[in-house]
Amino acid sequence: MFHTVRLQPKDTPAELAALGLKLKRKHRQDYILQPCPAYRDAHCSIYADRPERCRLFECRQLQRVQTGEVTEAHALERIREVQRRAAHLDVLSRRSDGSLRKGPLSKRCETALAEPFDATTHPELVAEREALARGLAELDALLDAEFRLPTKEVRSATPE
Ligand code: SF4
Repeated sequence: MFHTVRLQPKDTPAELAALGLKLKRKHRQDYILQPCPAYRDAHCSIYADRPERCRLFECRQLQRVQTGEVTEAHALERIREVQRRAAHLDVLSRRSDGSLRKGPLSKRCETALAEPFDATTHPELVAEREALARGLAELDALLDAEFRLPTKEVRSATPE
C-alpha cells in the first residue's frame, strides 16, 4: 500500500534497523522502506516493537469493523481479495526469467509496464501487459475505496 513509512519522534531508527527494517534518511527525515522485511506470513513479526506510525494507522476496514459497519469476517474477506489480486500482480510483474523486481508492488508493476518489448516476436506479452495494467488500476481503486484514508485523515491520525 505504501512505498515508505515515515518514522515519528518516539521511534529509534537504530533499534528498528537492528530489528531488520530497512531505513532511509531524506531531508533530515527517517523512513522505513516497503515492502517491510518484518511482514511475514501475513503478520507483523515485530508487532510489540513496531514503529509509531504503524501503531497509529487504522485502515478503512479496521475503522468499519470498530464502528460495527462491517463484520470482522467481511473485513478479512476484503483483505484476502487484496492479497489475491496482489499475488496475481506479483506474478505478472516479474522479469521474463521469473525473478522478482525491486521495490514495492506498485513500483514493480510500473517498471514492468515501462519495459519495451517487441510485439511481433513476443505477441503473448501484449495481453500480459494489458492484464497487468488493468489489474494494477483495479487494485488501486479497491485500495482507495476500501482501505486507504483520505490524506487529511491520515495526517490527523498519525501526527507528523
Ligand atoms: S506493522 Fe510491522 S510489518 Fe507492517 S510496516 Fe509496520 S513494522 Fe512492518
